[in-house]
Amino acid sequence: MEELIVLNNVRKVYKMGDEKIVALNDISLSIDKEEFVCLLGTSGSGKSTLLNMMAGLEKPTKGEIIIAKQHIEKMNEKQLAKFRQMNIGFVFQSYNLIPTLSAMENVSLGLTFRGIPRKLRDKMAKEMLEAVGLKNRLNHKPSEMSGGQQQRVSIARAFVGKPKIVFADEPTGNLDTKTTIEVMDLITGMAKENHQTLIIVTHDVEISPYAHRVIYVRDGNVEKIVENKTKGDVE
Ligand code: ADP
Ligand code: MG
Repeated sequence: MEELIVLNNVRKVYKMGDEKIVALNDISLSIDKEEFVCLLGTSGSGKSTLLNMMAGLEKPTKGEIIIAKQHIEKMNEKQLAKFRQMNIGFVFQSYNLIPTLSAMENVSLGLTFRGIPRKLRDKMAKEMLEAVGLKNRLNHKPSEMSGGQQQRVSIARAFVGKPKIVFADEPTGNLDTKTTIEVMDLITGMAKENHQTLIIVTHDVEISPYAHRVIYVRDGNVEKIVENKTKGDVE
């Protein structure tokens, strides 16, 4: 398998006044193209920090992060923003939709920065919203939708540009059990269909057995990596 993401000795220290918080101590790992990986660990163990580093949302204090052979730790903000637009989709626990924009506008916004013309953007956004079951909510604003529907919009936004990698940080953390299963099926199903690499932080015991590998994070380190035999087949 082809290595897509490589982390070498990644460390992240936050400074809070005089205090230093070591969020990630020394992390080295690699993730293959089309792999489905779950990150597990207790609250405060460093899962979100690790995910944000891999997604180019934050910079490491030390170490290398190489994605598709590019050193993202060496990029400036502008290069990073471009890199994220072209390669990365992100699903947040709290959806992070723009409240003043409709579902269609939220989904198509990222395509604007890629220079895709208006008509095609609208078509792509509409098709993606239909695919996540929101055909009848195209012009609704986030406040006019349920939590599950808002998360579907944010999934549509993450997937619409067919990014190489999709990251999700506790995407079902605010949802009920039934909606959790639907949302997880959507994310894992679309990633598999599009041959994307998927990295999810989740406490959801329903999901981690279906990941190719589970990476356990503890006190800013990789505690262990467990390979699953069921090989990412979500039924
Ligand atoms: P998890 O997602 O596993 O709950 P996080 O990655 O959010 O853990 O946090 C790891 C550690 O880093 C925690 O101790 C947290 O308080 C700290 N931390 C996270 N983000 C920041 C920040 N922006 N500033 C200061 N400390 C932070
Ligand atoms: Mg977190």
